[in-house]
Amino acid sequence: MKYDHILVRYGELGLKGKNQKQFLKTLVNNMRRQVEREIGKRPDVIREQGRLSIPLKGQPPQPFYPALDRVFGISTYSPVMTTSLDPADIQAAVLSELAQVPLEGKTFRVSVRRANKRFPIRSMDFQLQLAEAILAKYPQLVPNLTNYDLEISVDIRFEQAHIFLEKRPGLGGLPLGTGGRAELLLSGGIDSPVAGWLMMRRGVVVEGLHFHSYPYTSKQAEEKVLHLAEKMAAYSGHIDLHLVPFTPIQEAIGANCHSNIRITLMRRIMLRIAEQIADLRHAKALVTGDNIGQVASQTIESLYAINEVTTMPVLRPLLTYDKVDTVKIAKAIDTYETSVLPYEDCCTVFVPKEPKTKPKRHECAREEGRIEGLDELIRQAIEGTETVRCFANGSQPPKRAKLMDLIAAKDEDNG
Ligand code: ATP
Ligand code: MG
Repeated sequence: MKYDHILVRYGELGLKGKNQKQFLKTLVNNMRRQVEREIGKRPDVIREQGRLSIPLKGQPPQPFYPALDRVFGISTYSPVMTTSLDPADIQAAVLSELAQVPLEGKTFRVSVRRANKRFPIRSMDFQLQLAEAILAKYPQLVPNLTNYDLEISVDIRFEQAHIFLEKRPGLGGLPLGTGGRAELLLSGGIDSPVAGWLMMRRGVVVEGLHFHSYPYTSKQAEEKVLHLAEKMAAYSGHIDLHLVPFTPIQEAIGANCHSNIRITLMRRIMLRIAEQIADLRHAKALVTGDNIGQVASQTIESLYAINEVTTMPVLRPLLTYDKVDTVKIAKAIDTYETSVLPYEDCCTVFVPKEPKTKPKRHECAREEGRIEGLDELIRQAIEGTETVRCFANGSQPPKRAKLMDLIAAKDEDNG
């Protein structure tokens, strides 16, 4: 059988009016970009009532699948064959399509939907008729309406009939770009890339922010984070990653502050810097891979102490996740293998033997007070930040610039 288009279904039926228009426009653009990235050509995307269609123009559908599997906002999609409205035509198409599929011992059902009520046979009757024809030709199949391996769908439209056997799951969520912008605190671990990806699935454009302690941490540790950003960029085309030099601040913490509270202080200072960079980049939220109770810095008490320093929303999409569920997503989005490579985190370099699980806000403030010129250290860290544009799976080499140069250039652009 020859498929002539891919039918794309989207969810989020709750959207109304202007939101829905924006949703669709962004979804169509994102689909076209991802397909172009995959097969080198921008496809047409046609809007139909409540769904989208990609004409195949003689190409097979399979090369489109990896692209569609990277587009947020798609609920399911199907390669579809079109026939005339002649019932004999439809039946012949169904039978010939089934010849392409392994059928032995499989259960099946036929589902007919009739948008066109002028079609001469009622849906239920046509379903039965098609099922009988199928069984006559393929007796190895077993009909089962509720528990089926194979669903043969026939959609009776006004001019034509559509036939499909497959309903492939999409990523769900909202089209990337419909949800604003956020700064993701991206370590080299398993959790933060997954947290960022989950935000992207809600339509949020994510930028990465990585604190490194070069030369205490190696250049390989930085490479690893770039690599993670490139993996995430498969879903967006590119991701901007800010590399913040954190060494002087860590040394100042190490020299001045009680060891059992250092992790908490590092996190507080990370959030302060992240908030300032978010402001510069017009991002309205921060994202972390925090997970309740995983480690000392992630108890409710320490989140309370850490969060004090910012009024910006700090989104923690993994807060309630079990590790196995996070790992499952990390594997599905292909960040896992990179995340588990050994590397030194800036926090493990200066890690205390026994971090406090219940740091107090007033203790944090007191210990921070011992660091002379903290605001200036923060300013220097931002001044020294390098912004690296990372492209989907390394399809282009990363582009490096100074964060402040980018900001200055933008200001100039805006007059
Ligand atoms: P991950 O697997 O993301 O590293 P984790 O479970 O190991 O998370 P922590 O190492 O305590 O937890 O870090 C908690 C969160 O703080 C991370 O998910 C990340 O968002 C942020 N974070 C930690 N270290 C850094 C860093 N060097 N640069 C940027 N963000 C960081
Ligand atoms: Mg970590």
